[in-house]
Amino acid sequence: MSNMEPHLLPPRVLLFPLPCQGNVNSMLNLAQLLSLAGLHVTFLNSDHNHDRLVRYTDIQARFTCYPGFQFKTITDGLPVEHPRNGESFMEMCYALNSVTRPLFRDMLVSGQFGLVNCIIADGIMGYTIDVADEVGIPIFHFRSISACCFWACFSIPQMIEAGEIPIKGNEAMDVLIRSVPGMETFLRSRDLPSFCRSSDVSNPSLQLIMTETRQSPRARALILNTFEDLEGPILSQIRTQCPTTYTIGPLHAHRKTRLAKHATNTLQRSSNSSSLWEVDRSCMTWLDQQPLQSVVYISFGSLAVLTRDQLIEFWYGVVNSKKNFLWVRRLDSTPGNKEGESEDIPVELVEGTKERGYMVGWAPQEEVLAHKAVGGFLTHSGWNSTLESIVAGVPMVCWPYFFDQQLNSRFVSEVWKLGLDMKDLCDRTIVEQMLNDLMVERRQEFVKSTAEMARLSRKSVSEGGSSYSNLDRLIKDIRLISM
Ligand code: UDP
Repeated sequence: MSNMEPHLLPPRVLLFPLPCQGNVNSMLNLAQLLSLAGLHVTFLNSDHNHDRLVRYTDIQARFTCYPGFQFKTITDGLPVEHPRNGESFMEMCYALNSVTRPLFRDMLVSGQFGLVNCIIADGIMGYTIDVADEVGIPIFHFRSISACCFWACFSIPQMIEAGEIPIKGNEAMDVLIRSVPGMETFLRSRDLPSFCRSSDVSNPSLQLIMTETRQSPRARALILNTFEDLEGPILSQIRTQCPTTYTIGPLHAHRKTRLAKHATNTLQRSSNSSSLWEVDRSCMTWLDQQPLQSVVYISFGSLAVLTRDQLIEFWYGVVNSKKNFLWVRRLDSTPGNKEGESEDIPVELVEGTKERGYMVGWAPQEEVLAHKAVGGFLTHSGWNSTLESIVAGVPMVCWPYFFDQQLNSRFVSEVWKLGLDMKDLCDRTIVEQMLNDLMVERRQEFVKSTAEMARLSRKSVSEGGSSYSNLDRLIKDIRLISM
């Protein structure tokens, strides 16, 4: 404990992420960046996630070196044994609202976090603004989705008014959406966030996402894990509603730059793992033995659940493409798949995997994408995965699963030209063909565009870059409001 008078201590920032892997990853990176700048951070994890972080990582060691850093925990509102994946995502959002929200308020009011100068909360929990207002603490909203998805969610009322939502059946899926400013020429119904596919605008998921997103202009500022060179035109649109929007990403790369600049060797060597699953590092040894840029890395993130049919179609497509592959298959990524249970997989797939593939339950993804043997990424287009692929300069084949991923994959293929969008198709011949296009036929084109975007992403987090300067401004702003 410091002997300093409370008003002489650095500002204390309370960080409150949505309790999902991608959100926790990006907020922990932000926590480390704020800590490096000398701010005191309280990181509020769900009990469930905190237990897993402690079990599978050396998370305490990563942060004990920062004076004033502390973890606190709160329930995510779901029973202990309840599944936490894409199928229960909305259920968790409702539980956070009904169960966690009043607890969060009580913890703040009763001083369980000590003196807090400002809150940075995940904007999908828009209600945090009401709580912060009630206790008189300034609040920033952080979103770990892309700016393009934030803006599409923000524009839902206009789409409803224009009659673009609900989507008028399957035949309207390729119709252009005209009422999301900045996306009029390329956004189709099928590229909208997944819950916009509901046939009823009073659908609770649609209402929740829309209502929560519309809270963000009330926050002191919006913080986004993106960079100006990637999403500049959409950011200009967002700033008409949220004038102070700090873009400080890609956060995982930003963290590395700042660590290299400010920190001691011990800090730089500290692990950055914030995995909620046990990381299987054996895949790195396997990658070491593969030829340059020959491997397709396959991962559908932390939430996606594939049907058995989808799994088999992907598997055939990948094996038939005759590309080497490293595939992350989470234990809970196919229904009914229990540890040790036989899955009854066709023999040619098992043989094809032995020949060219390697499978793990969870990989050190940032390291995998940076490995010289990796030449492509078959991804679900989660925002963290997309940014990690961009920084590593790895082209993508996108199979969006839900939420923001439908938009991200459209931007990857149509706007940024960093890969191909499989959108709504899960067919072995398409998988095979797209992998072939990515790795062979159109390789040169994608290598060029991904290398340029990787360069821009690194520039943004280097001294003088947009994200680097924006983080400095954000920290200054936090210090100012804390005086
Ligand atoms: N990830 C990982 N190992 C894996 C698969 C994923 O470390 O085997 C990490 C990945 O690096 C990313 C996060 O999990 O930071 C997934 O976040 P994303 O936003 O891409 O997708 P989500 O899981 O939210 O759908």
